[in-house]
Amino acid sequence: MTIPTLAMNSGYDIPQVGYGVFKVPAHDTERAVSEALALGYRHIDTAAVYGNEEGVGAAVRASGIPRDELFITTKLWNDRHEGDQPRAAIGESLDKLGLDHVDLYLVHWPTPARNNYVEAWQGLVALRDEGLTRTIGVSNFLVPHLERIVAETGETPAVDQIELHPTYQQREVVAWAADHGVLIEAWGPLGQGKYDLGAIPAVRGAADAHRKSPAQVVLRWHIQKGNIVFPKSVRVERLRENMDVFDFELSDDEVTAIDALDPGDGSGRVSAHPDEVN
Ligand code: NAD
Repeated sequence: MTIPTLAMNSGYDIPQVGYGVFKVPAHDTERAVSEALALGYRHIDTAAVYGNEEGVGAAVRASGIPRDELFITTKLWNDRHEGDQPRAAIGESLDKLGLDHVDLYLVHWPTPARNNYVEAWQGLVALRDEGLTRTIGVSNFLVPHLERIVAETGETPAVDQIELHPTYQQREVVAWAADHGVLIEAWGPLGQGKYDLGAIPAVRGAADAHRKSPAQVVLRWHIQKGNIVFPKSVRVERLRENMDVFDFELSDDEVTAIDALDPGDGSGRVSAHPDEVN
């Protein structure tokens, strides 16, 4: 199965569906990523803090897939924003992954109380210029954080990876990103399994109409919104299901019905708010 790509402002393309390995246990990561690669996934989203970069690297090596056919993302953790720390941190990640560069390196959280995300962003610009990552971006950045890094460095991130799913759609960040040519990566695209997608009539109705699962309907909604997704599962049948979203299309009415699921007051969020993570 060929997964479509989107063009980033760096000139590189990113597969719109990948496999995210948050909470995949280190001892199980090589197996899970190997199964994903065998199914046709080519985009893997990990992070230093996930503790499983070695398993990703082992699966990549064992796969024999040419490096330029893979898209590997990892992320800079919060206590490494300053001075030479980003360089040291990406060096450690590359060693664990067994790679000489990643495709995308992200500032994992803005940690606003530390007030050093501009320095972290400058650090990533230098890493990109040295070729240690092809493309740079951010994660969990809200509009004030995005405005500030662009104003102070002149460098616009290629992506912002944010919590985004039917009950929490981040309309302000999405609108800013669209205006600035920044792609949205939706983390927790299925709401992290914290609410029952199949119990939502708009999702259930579309699933029945298209003979797809509720998860596939929600992933398809993300695709049609232009979001990049990398749903997490350790089960091969779900890995297969989660990439099988390119043989049907939601109607405008079906998309609009899912658009309406965000209550608009922030109460649909299922995980940490960027201001709380420092
Ligand atoms: P997710 O929305 O992908 O939910 C994962 C859960 O959904 C699974 O544990 C499983 O219970 C369920 N699930 C998966 N496939 C399913 C299917 N086909 N049918 C029914 N249920 C299914 O949440 P996530 O793992 O938090 O997010 C995906 C990826 O996003 C992560 O693995 C990670 O790479 C990234 N992420 C990034 C951040 C960040 O701060 N940048 C935070 C969280 C996650």
